[in-house]
Formats: sequence, structure tokens, C-alpha cells
Amino acid sequence: MEWEAVIGLEIHVQLDTRSKIFSGASTKFGAEPNSQACPVDLGLPGVLPVVNAEVFKKAVAFGLGIGAEIGYRSVFDRKNYFYPDLPKGYQITQLQFPIVLGGQVEIALPDGTAKTIGVTRAHLEEDAGKSVHEDFHGMSGIDLNRAGTPLLEVVSEPDMRSAEEAVAYAKYIHQLVCYLDVSDGEMSQGSMRCDANVSIRPKGQTTLGTRTETKNVNSFRFLQRAINFEIARQIDVLEAGDSVLQDTLLYDPALDQTRPMRSKETATDYRYFPEPDLLPVVIDAAYVESIRSQLPELPHAKVSRFTAQYGLSKVDATILAAERPLADYFEQAAEICGDATLTANWVRVELTGQLNRENLAITESAVSAVQLGQLLLRIKDETISGKIAKDVFDAIWQGQGSADEIIAAKGLQQITNTVAIGPIVDEIIANNPKQVEQFRAGREKVLGFFIGQVMQATEGKANPKQVNEIVREKLKQ
Ligand code: ADP
Ligand code: MG
Repeated sequence: MEWEAVIGLEIHVQLDTRSKIFSGASTKFGAEPNSQACPVDLGLPGVLPVVNAEVFKKAVAFGLGIGAEIGYRSVFDRKNYFYPDLPKGYQITQLQFPIVLGGQVEIALPDGTAKTIGVTRAHLEEDAGKSVHEDFHGMSGIDLNRAGTPLLEVVSEPDMRSAEEAVAYAKYIHQLVCYLDVSDGEMSQGSMRCDANVSIRPKGQTTLGTRTETKNVNSFRFLQRAINFEIARQIDVLEAGDSVLQDTLLYDPALDQTRPMRSKETATDYRYFPEPDLLPVVIDAAYVESIRSQLPELPHAKVSRFTAQYGLSKVDATILAAERPLADYFEQAAEICGDATLTANWVRVELTGQLNRENLAITESAVSAVQLGQLLLRIKDETISGKIAKDVFDAIWQGQGSADEIIAAKGLQQITNTVAIGPIVDEIIANNPKQVEQFRAGREKVLGFFIGQVMQATEGKANPKQVNEIVREKLKQ
């Protein structure tokens, strides 16, 4: 039988705020365990939560970014359950009246076509603490620093049909929340975690099969592997004549498999009720419009503009628009040198290569956009060749100064003077009569030999275009 996979994702995005969603405790990553959980996060008697206004700005920006409806009146609820890392015994979340309703995201499929994935809702909630199992000799430690960290949970429609589509969707959400400054997107620090809901059904069937939910997957690679493992496992179960149980699973990257965590609770198990300590949050159209007016250009719009304005290929535009700081860097450098194609190549090849080798983000680049733009300007006006420019780039990277300073200090100016290049060519022609013979007998390829010799003699400083012309002319004489 031919099977079809159905996937829906619940993505927890950590909002990039300085303090927690209901308290003033810091959200900074990497602090000493339990140094950032205040009485509100711990749920001590007599404390009251106060909403951090910043989380609403970010949630609304996200909602506008996916074309969603905004919940003008959103309500916090208590979701009750017991777990050692949840000191209050409940999580404050939004059930019936979330801040973001509906919306959609467009993803690119491998065959180049686009597909729209529906978003059901996105709601605000607080994170729980963390159980730590290492170094506790068979016991568990509890770190409550994360308790009360603001999250936006983005729930998709079951619109994805393969692990690749799910990863493309998750990557777009990641890109969008980074563009919008909604999250820092640091997945290794838990800033984005995915729950993958997976079911299968015979191809052609319209009703949904029973799903499992694989919790807390924190990398795109693991997401892909967890979903593929789960699809294959469910096919085996159904083909053996058994049925899939609606379980909550954990993905184990070391074993590359999922295993049951607990069987699925239903909403009634959580005894949801409206949070009595918080009023509904009511926002108005003016508030929403002020956030809309501050939205940056979004990823898809930037890609379209890069292709239209700079004549870049879709592939180049997509790569350069992947992150806002990279896109800004490219535009700044391109403006200085006046050649977008040249800049795109340099950013993609030289700059990205160097950043990858040193494992740096674009914001940590040792060559600034202005410095790169000025360097490329010197290729454009033929002060240096593209090859020499690579050495100059390395020198700028090492902090030796600007392009002009390095070119002057090392005497790297291109020799563009015919009077200077001529005698060098004459000498090489005189010393290589055999090659001259070959060229005159019609072997065009020998030209490369002469050009190579001149470049070597000038330490790469001769203008290659001019050398080509002069060599040709002199060989014909
Ligand atoms: P819950 O709140 O109990 O986790 P929801 O109905 O809100 O369940 O769905 C959670 C996620 O599971 C959504 O992303 C939804 O698209 C997805 N989902 C629901 N049913 C299925 C199914 N049969 N197969 C795959 N995904 C599903
Ligand atoms: Mg769920």
C-alpha cells in the first residue's frame, strides 16, 4: 500500500526579552543554576504575576508577519499538571483566546514550487524549569532559571506531507522570528523547540490517522530524522496489522529513534481554567497599527527585491536574505562599490568562507561591510586584480588596515602602464622561442603560458586584461 505522511508542528519560540513574562527576573542564558528564579517564578504564596508588555509587542509582530488575525482580547489560563520542574503546579498559557489566530507561511519545495502551510494559532505562555540528570549520581537536579521565560507557541495545521516540508516550515518560522527580533533564534540554547505531530494514512484517504507527538526536538537535523523515523515506524506498525497509539514520544539522537514518554493526556486532564491573578489583556487597533508600521522588510519581500533591484539570481538572493544582518551587510558593501553582482560573489564565497572557517556569525566579521565595499571599489577601478584582492582581504581580516592602506603599504597597485609591461613581455618572448613558434603555428593555448609568465614576473600585479592584449600584439609581430 502507498502511505502518505501528515505532519503538524508546535514550535515553541523563546521571546527575546530581558525579563520574564510575569516577573522581573532575568532571562539571560547560562547563569548559575537557580540564580534567576524569583518568588513569582517559584509560585511562592502571596506573589502576583504582572505581564511583561514586551511579549505582546513581539507576539503581535509575529502575527502580522504571518498575515494572522490579532486577538484584541486575549486571556491567560492555568494548565495544571505535576512535574518536578514546575514549582507552581501549573503553567500559565492561553487556551481559548490566544493573541494570534490563523495566518500562513509560504515554503519552497525542493522542486522549486511554493506551498502554503496554515498556522492555526500562536499563544503566549511561560516556560518550565529544567531537570538535570548528569552529575547527580542517579538523582536529578532541578534548575529553575528557565521557569517563567516567555514563549510563543506556534501551532501549525497538519499541512505538511514529508519531513523535508516540516523542516522547510520550521526554518522559515526561525528566519521570520529572527527578522522580526522576536527571538534570538539560538537553537542550541533552547530558543526554538519543536513538537512534531506525525500520522500516516493510505494515500488518497482524506481523514487523518492517529498521530504521535515527538516532544522538544531542538535542531532541524534531528527534526528531519525524528519525523522520518516515526513515519517508518508507523508504517511498520500498520502493515503488521497493529494500530498506532496516540503517544507522546521523545527523540533520542544517539540511537536515532523515538521512544514513548507518556501516553497522551487530553485537555480535561489539565483542568484548564482562566488565570485568576491576571486580567484579560485588551489591545486596540492603534496599538496593532503602530507595530505594523515598524515591521522590517520580511524575508520573501527581500528576496524579490534583491532579484529585481540588483539582478541577482533567486539562489543568490535567497542566500543573502537568509539573515537580516547578512542582507544589510551585502547592501551596504554593494552601495559603496556600485557593483551588486561582484559584491554578491564576494560575500557568498570569500566572506562566508572565512566566517565558516572561523565559525563566526556575520555580526562578528573582522572585515566590515564598509571595508569590503572599499576593497571591491579597487577591483572596479582596476587598482588591483581580483586575485590580489583576496590577499588584501586576508590582510584587512588580520587587522592590517583598510584596502587602500594595505595596497599602498605593500605596493600592490596593479601595473596598468603599457610602458612598464611591454619590456617584461619582450624579455619573456625572447627567452621562450619554442612557445613563440607554437603560438605562431596556431596553438592559441600557448597564450596562457605567456600571460602566466608575465603575472609571475610582476608578482601578480600586472593588469591581466592588459597583459593579454600586449602579449597578443607582440606575438603577432
Ligand atoms: P493538542 O493540543 O492536543 O496537542 P491539537 O489538536 O491542538 O492537539 O494539535 C496539535 C498539533 O498536531 C497541530 O500542529 C496539528 O496540526 C497536529 N495534528 C493534529 N492531528 C494530527 C494528525 N492526525 N496527524 C498529524 N498532525 C496532527
Ligand atoms: Mg500539543
